[in-house]
Amino acid sequence: MSKNNKVLDTVGEVCELCEVGTVELISTDRVLRYKGEEKELFGLEVTQCTECGDGFYTRASKSRVNRGFADLKRRVDGFLTSEALVAFRKEHKLTQEDLSGLLGMAPKTIARYETGFAIQSKQVDLMLRMLINTPSNLRWLSALTGVEVSGAWAEKGGRVVSCPGAFVPLRIPKEEFLQDRESFREEEKPYCRDAA
Ligand SMILES: [Zn+2]
Repeated sequence: MSKNNKVLDTVGEVCELCEVGTVELISTDRVLRYKGEEKELFGLEVTQCTECGDGFYTRASKSRVNRGFADLKRRVDGFLTSEALVAFRKEHKLTQEDLSGLLGMAPKTIARYETGFAIQSKQVDLMLRMLINTPSNLRWLSALTGVEVSGAWAEKGGRVVSCPGAFVPLRIPKEEFLQDRESFREEEKPYCRDAA
């Protein structure tokens, strides 16, 4: 804990560890370190004993530390930060569940990346960067997966479409898949090109 500690509230409960001191809510700063790089977090709230110093971050502070450390690692390792991911998702009016579903992930995966609870793998990082670089693929993924999203393109006069031929082949035998791809090319291409 740093010397910039400030007492915010005297909670008054006796410390469970030393049974001598009392618990206070304090504000403190912390420097996060990763591979020689630093990031400082200010005003973290901690409940701490006046005698033995035993303390815990509050729930909100723990979230800030998790997210701060995850983003420090992302920056140092050259991964997409949570801010960039949130900005992209909001620009396209996608919920966390929408984006998870479009990428074939479990519903809470994007939420875990954004809160710093988890850090994306290199492979997922590249996939996210490709999507950010070419956001028209959101529409393509929507057609492919059947996940309905009210993306930003809808506001720009576009429309959310499903392109049935694009999804069906994934579920049928190879021979039919090849046949279906041919008919898909003939019949669905104008429609899907319009949607792209
Ligand atoms: Zn104590």
